[in-house]
Amino acid sequence: MCKIISLLFVREKVNYSVCIFFCRFHKSKCFPLFIKFYVERNEHFATKLLLFHRDFPEYVMIVTYIFHSGYVIETERFSIVFDFYKDAKKSDGTYFVRDYLLKKPEDLYVFCSHSHPDHFNPEILSWKEKKNNITYIFANELLENKQTIGTGVHYLAKYAKFEDYNLWAQLFGSTDLGGSFLVNVNDKLIFHAGDLNNWHWKEEVSKEEALVFENNYLCELELLAENVNHLYLAMFPIDPRLGKEYMRGAEQFVSRIPTEYLLPMHFGEQYAKVNAFENIARQNNCNYLKVTHTGQSFEL
Ligand SMILES: [Zn+2]
Repeated sequence: MCKIISLLFVREKVNYSVCIFFCRFHKSKCFPLFIKFYVERNEHFATKLLLFHRDFPEYVMIVTYIFHSGYVIETERFSIVFDFYKDAKKSDGTYFVRDYLLKKPEDLYVFCSHSHPDHFNPEILSWKEKKNNITYIFANELLENKQTIGTGVHYLAKYAKFEDYNLWAQLFGSTDLGGSFLVNVNDKLIFHAGDLNNWHWKEEVSKEEALVFENNYLCELELLAENVNHLYLAMFPIDPRLGKEYMRGAEQFVSRIPTEYLLPMHFGEQYAKVNAFENIARQNNCNYLKVTHTGQSFEL
């Protein structure tokens, strides 16, 4: 809920009042809000302000599936893009990121978990030519592989944190290149796994090798669980290429860390296969969000 901290300025006109006050949503930082009230002749300004305060909409975030491991999160004051690979085409022929997101005036944070081409599209570095309030937050691995030397990029080593007036983010481990991101969005913890998963490849490697892969994953999961009691939203790989037990990593994840909402990644176009995770999620008190197409949005 929005809380008014202090009223800074009021000017009463004949049929409206203008006021500026400091607000905060949930426990996020304060920000100024400019409001023009229309006041009926028999209405008092203070009464109108009280009514406005009571009726202010609940805070929401909108999460949009772009493609593969690419997701966008929008809040009132800023947006986040994770692991942009290919843009989502909307039904009217325009593109979600290029034609909509990059034109929004709010701050934009661009996260990239590692340098695999399906998680890092170099195009993201050119976005700053079109929009000046972009902050890039990359796993250190992108710098080590010399793919992203440029100004204005914050590189995070494992467990390092980025923080500014909108959010904080911390890099956790991966079972492949780079890392995974824990992000605090208005006091809600969001997790983007990057390529962190139980890549056991049970049907392709020996039992011993599969066990090593699994143990690597369980170690990283434990390191994350030591720091996180509860997640509001997790975006996690559910990759049918792993064979029969393709949901094993995601199941281990939601059974270890209480997760309110889960969105799948890394599944190509195998929507029916990943959406089979709904039952497993339910057994772990997690709300699985069914994805049916690119550009699909969820209001949370
Ligand atoms: Zn990947």
